[in-house]
Amino acid sequence: ATAPAPAAAPASAAGGVEKEDDAKEAADASLLNKALHSRLIQHTSTSQLEVQQKDPNSPLHSVKSFEELRLKQALLKGVYEMGFNAPSKIQETALPLLMADPPKNMIAQSQSGTGKTAAFVLTMLSRVDNNHYPQALCLAPTYELAIQIGKVVEEMGKNLPDINVRYAVRGQRVQRGEKVNQQIIIGTPGTTLDWCLKLRSIDLSRMKVFCLDEADVMIATQGHQDQSIRIQKKLPSACQMMLFSATYDNTVMKFATTVVPDPVVIRLRREEESLSNIKQYYVLCSNKEEKAESLSNIYGTITIGQAMIFCQTKRNANWLAERMTREGHAVALLSGDLTVEQRVAVLERYRAGKEKILITTNVMARGIDIEQVTVVVNFDLPVDMNGQADCETYLHRIGRTGRFGKSGLAINFVDGPRSMDIMKIIENHFGRQIERLYTDDAEEIE
Ligand code: ADP
Repeated sequence: ATAPAPAAAPASAAGGVEKEDDAKEAADASLLNKALHSRLIQHTSTSQLEVQQKDPNSPLHSVKSFEELRLKQALLKGVYEMGFNAPSKIQETALPLLMADPPKNMIAQSQSGTGKTAAFVLTMLSRVDNNHYPQALCLAPTYELAIQIGKVVEEMGKNLPDINVRYAVRGQRVQRGEKVNQQIIIGTPGTTLDWCLKLRSIDLSRMKVFCLDEADVMIATQGHQDQSIRIQKKLPSACQMMLFSATYDNTVMKFATTVVPDPVVIRLRREEESLSNIKQYYVLCSNKEEKAESLSNIYGTITIGQAMIFCQTKRNANWLAERMTREGHAVALLSGDLTVEQRVAVLERYRAGKEKILITTNVMARGIDIEQVTVVVNFDLPVDMNGQADCETYLHRIGRTGRFGKSGLAINFVDGPRSMDIMKIIENHFGRQIERLYTDDAEEIE
């Protein structure tokens, strides 16, 4: 048969289904983060970048501009046309190593939105030539993530008309006996392996660059590790290998060092979340209705940029979204009832500013990085499964406002002695006062 077998692995063992859920959740979160990061997450201090290489004395060269990389003119043009002025923090150090001759292998870890994709796409585009055979291969965990990468290749490479991309993902076909002649292949491990070994449509013998993206999501998926390793083994020894991951732990590193021989390892630590730049307030109410009313009052008085509102339950989130919409606010609701595609669409609209308010539950927001909000509203204070104050979640929600010198605002709703206790615990935990706000004089907070 010419059609590749579906890439999905069957859930055989008892734990299989659960594992697959985890893998899907990881891939979904990754996709949602991509939808949110149309902008770069900037890092400020220099100490957060950590580089490990075989010879610790070999000098590290970092670049402050794309010119220094001596890219092909057409490629540099593409980079600038994307609005990139200067390399991101991770790109400053990674790009000179990735572009070096002889090429260096790399394992790089940094959170989503820091410029990893742009870095390896640039590397692939700079290493391929116009010859019509596969020269760069990038593996991603899902169809959607592969398509996202392809979009970046097409955009960055739009002034390189002779460079083409082929997707080795479910739904795509190769003809019987066809030899793939595009220079850049982006695929999922299963389909790519089929095209290479079973159908013999992809010739790996002249590959110059091999890239494994979202390695942490990859290893959560049954079979992806083995398939990736089988592909990697067929690559010529001179092929440059690189692996990217948003998280870093032993399982990721074990896999990473198996597929990337002799690597330079680069890690960019997350910017610390802190409450130091954030004004925290609470509003005392007696019930849900009153909370919603106070929220309206606040909205009526102060100009709020983009706000994110957290509710404890899906029901509350739905209720509040409906109510605020009725009052004429443009509200986006990130709800568990939506498919991942719909959630991506919601986040894209919000990110683009089409809606100023995003209402969500904690469960929905888990693993997603929203950086651009100016106000965080805890319509319900965060509690764990036992109903206890969840300080970590509080910090994670609030710590995203007030970044890069901007000051942020957090408003907490308290509706009785229980939630007052929770607020006190949070306040003591961080040692930072949460001031009472009377919504009648909300102007004060501007
Ligand atoms: P990651 O792969 O780490 O999630 P991306 O490469 O997708 O990060 O970059 C995140 C966002 O930042 C993308 O929208 C991308 O276009 C943008 N971006 C990447 N590099 C730069 C840069 N040097 N300057 C400005 N924006 C950038």
